[in-house]
Amino acid sequence: MTRVSCDCDVLVVGGGNAALCAAIAARRAGASVLLLEAASKSLRGGNARHSRNMRVMHGAPTPWVRGCYPADDYHADLQRMAGAAVNSVDDGLARLFIDASADIVDWLVGNGVRFHRGTDEVLPYSRKTAFFLGGGKALINALYATAEALGVVVRYGSAVRALHRRDGPPAVIVGDAGIAVRARALVVASGGFQADLGWLRQQWGGAAGEFTIRGTPHATGVPLKALLEDGADPVGAADRCHMVAVDGRAPPFDGGIVTRLDGLPHGIVVDRDGRRFADEGAVVGPSRYTAWGELVARCPGAVAFSVFDSAIAERFRPSIFPAIQADSVGGLASALGIGPPALGSTVAAFNAALNATVAGGGTTAGVHPPKTRLAAPITVPPFGAYPVRAGVTSTCLGVRVDGRARVLRPDGTAIDGVHAAGVIMAPNILGTGYLAGSAMTIGAVFGRIAGREAAAHALR
Ligand SMILES: Cc1cc2nc3c(=O)[nH]c(=O)nc-3n(C[C@H](O)[C@H](O)[C@H](O)COP(=O)(O)OP(=O)(O)OC[C@H]3O[C@@H](n4cnc5c(N)ncnc54)[C@H](O)[C@@H]3O)c2cc1C
Repeated sequence: MTRVSCDCDVLVVGGGNAALCAAIAARRAGASVLLLEAASKSLRGGNARHSRNMRVMHGAPTPWVRGCYPADDYHADLQRMAGAAVNSVDDGLARLFIDASADIVDWLVGNGVRFHRGTDEVLPYSRKTAFFLGGGKALINALYATAEALGVVVRYGSAVRALHRRDGPPAVIVGDAGIAVRARALVVASGGFQADLGWLRQQWGGAAGEFTIRGTPHATGVPLKALLEDGADPVGAADRCHMVAVDGRAPPFDGGIVTRLDGLPHGIVVDRDGRRFADEGAVVGPSRYTAWGELVARCPGAVAFSVFDSAIAERFRPSIFPAIQADSVGGLASALGIGPPALGSTVAAFNAALNATVAGGGTTAGVHPPKTRLAAPITVPPFGAYPVRAGVTSTCLGVRVDGRARVLRPDGTAIDGVHAAGVIMAPNILGTGYLAGSAMTIGAVFGRIAGREAAAHALR
């Protein structure tokens, strides 16, 4: 085989969890590796900077996770959460992923990442997830240190503008100067497209302008678009996002986990016209905040308000921003820009519908939508509210891959030398659903596979 002159064996596009795992795996397999990260050094690492845990299968307790979490339980959880675009889920790949999660914590530990020990008792009991010591930022710092110690060359501020494949091995065009970099194999690990508000607007219209992007402003989906234009088979759905409820005063990008609103199931949630639109008690478990992102995104103006009184406020974790307060419901409505009669009649109807036959309230009767849990009167001043917006974690459009993380065309053939890892291929496993802690595992597992496979391709 004629060998074309290349700048490196394996080129990794992206600088987050998936990219770093790929770079380390490829380098350990003997390849020369160049990693191109769009962000500056201080903002490197994508959304993993904000993360805290990863979901792993284990048949017995380990130093990092308690109890056991068998493969079939993990699989059942995945199937339950896989969401509407379930046809994009490749069950064989999901099984491979679950099996590979069993040793991913050890592999990360071997590459410098530190985890909380299950015996530390500083975090809530978790049978399913291992927690990063120091959070996702520490994980990212450890992986960069290991990658660079192994000889991975890292270039910051290097946004890939285009991919080229037609005239031989894959190449990318980098930065405003349009520098071409050619490699024997490519790993694309550049996340979703949630930071491109123009692209989001194509799916969500004007509502997209009201969204908050919880993580990196660099996930603009340029490499994803290039792969799709190059013939990659799309998976997932362009018009779906993983969203949570965030405080409406959060910064437009990178607000992270602290801007999430936790107390919505306790009070009532109204739209800008003062109307309730969902059963606030429907989801009260660990995924309660994920249920609200899309609901709020679909409200008029993509904004809502969590409304409560001072008695209810005692029961939940407050926002990072202070509640907007008033001594009367009418005063609160005015402060929120809602017509006072509209909010007043919503609160009155809700209070009147509380089911007195259940001790301590808890449910409503005769009001639509009903509140099926945690219903309590809104009567004790001062009254409070938080503005709520949809906070986008990531988009749900990706490229199809096989078990070797090779990017596939619609006919099932692999695009030569091109691999993908992380959010950019996560819909193969998750569809449009979200399973807490699985996103970091998908990045690490498929990053490791993609790096090894890209190295094997480059060095063959
Ligand atoms: C607030 C928050 C909390 C979270 N908590 C958890 C958690 O606890 N557990 C969990 O499992 N998941 C969590 N997630 C999700 C998880 O962080 C992501 O799924 C995961 O980090 C995605 O990794 P990735 O490497 O695929 O993509 P990203 O993290 O999106 O990284 C993409 C990388 O590619 C770079 N890039 C993008 N475009 C280009 C380009 N054109 N050229 C070069 N580089 C480019 C970016 O700069 C970035 O470094 C959380 C997400 C957020 C926002």
